[in-house]
Amino acid sequence: MNDDLYVIPVTFVGPLGSMVLNLALIVGPDRDTTLVDASMPGHVDEVAAALAADGFSMDDLRQIVVTHQDVDHIGSLAAIKIRSCATVIAHSIEAPYIEGKERLVKYPSQERLDQNPGMKEIFDQIGFAPVDRLVEDGDLLEIGGGTRVIHTPGHTPGHISLFLERSKTLISGDALTSADGQLAGPSVGATPDYSTAVESVKKLAALPEVNAIVTYHGGLVTDDPLGQLRRVAASL
Ligand SMILES: [Zn+2]
Repeated sequence: MNDDLYVIPVTFVGPLGSMVLNLALIVGPDRDTTLVDASMPGHVDEVAAALAADGFSMDDLRQIVVTHQDVDHIGSLAAIKIRSCATVIAHSIEAPYIEGKERLVKYPSQERLDQNPGMKEIFDQIGFAPVDRLVEDGDLLEIGGGTRVIHTPGHTPGHISLFLERSKTLISGDALTSADGQLAGPSVGATPDYSTAVESVKKLAALPEVNAIVTYHGGLVTDDPLGQLRRVAASL
């Protein structure tokens, strides 16, 4: 979408239908590239193909930032890490889940897995991986000429959003959703601590300038993004 950010759409067809996941690729000087989130389990070839469509390969990846622990964000993390040798970055609260040391907050019940073998297969294939670098709210990463970490809990406890200081682009993960360029709040059904998630939306809405927002479920929002964000925050 601009010099330092590409939206990498990956389509997942699963037991609950098909959905598009919008991974982000931040490109800094010397093609120092950072992937944001790691799609569903078994998706490493789909991610590689989506990167290739924009002229990048797994070898280009230096870092993978994981916004949070959900299956559609960490599914192919181990495979992508092995293929790229990239460093994995995540919030300290979220790391034990991403590493497989703690049970995922939204891990389905045994009953639900028994009723849905397709879902069980997906959760059995999650590619947990070590987190190499822990980050906290307010950290400024050297990624893409300066990327601010914003802790946005509620959807999960250690969920982070990223703000690219140079292009004023917000990568919201699942702290926000969108459809056809229209911004909305976090998914009610997938956000266990909704009141905390609302506080996180208000925190994002306090950013002084936002030129674009990328949501994982919905993609790019460029039409008055900060105005939309402030209206969403006021409506929750
Ligand atoms: Zn999520």
